[in-house]
Amino acid sequence: MEFRRVKGLGRMHGIPHSDPFLVPVGPGVPRSGSSLLGEGVLVLNRHWTAVHVCTVRRALALLFQDLASVVTKDYESYDFESWRELSAADPHSEPCVRTPRFALRVPEVIVLARYQGMPPRRLKFNRRNIFLRDGFSCQYCGDKPRRDDLTIDHIQPRSRGGLSTWGNIVVACMKCNTKKGDRTPGEARMKLRRKPKRPHWLSCLGAIPGAKGRTVWQKFVDKAYWNASLQE
Ligand SMILES: [Zn+2]
Repeated sequence: MEFRRVKGLGRMHGIPHSDPFLVPVGPGVPRSGSSLLGEGVLVLNRHWTAVHVCTVRRALALLFQDLASVVTKDYESYDFESWRELSAADPHSEPCVRTPRFALRVPEVIVLARYQGMPPRRLKFNRRNIFLRDGFSCQYCGDKPRRDDLTIDHIQPRSRGGLSTWGNIVVACMKCNTKKGDRTPGEARMKLRRKPKRPHWLSCLGAIPGAKGRTVWQKFVDKAYWNASLQE
């Protein structure tokens, strides 16, 4: 098996520099190491309420620093050492992140040791969250082109007083955006697939990389939000 070095992980996460993360790549490995590290991990506060989603990379850093434990589908929690032992016992059963000395199973859920804050009531209005809300799909034709071919469309055009708000912005493919031009959907005879609104933070879960395989998340997320988030 071939390994590739992942830059910047060592020092950042308190691992000696001579012990860098090495992750498997090449045929037979379902996802490349770096994309695996970028997948989502559900974060619970100390009262086991889902408050956030972070990357695998960040979750492992928190685990190393004893700021978080891994939670399994059986509601058991593991600190770094016990998670390392569990990973060593059956290293081929789950996706793993490997160092020269050990392999660590990729966690799906972590619980923070001290944090007791609650989930965000309002989702931040930014480009990333707009893409997540709209499931990376054009809200006019439904296409899911490459990310580079997706644009942000002001439903009521900016040049005509349209604001940058959750209700006036949707994701559109390049083709639809060009076709619509400086017109309203009515004028351009284009129909929105759904009325855009501010999303609940959990409703974006399904669009997070790796989310669909994370069945354990269901145990900590309201069923209604889970189902809605997977309808994309
Ligand atoms: Zn389109």
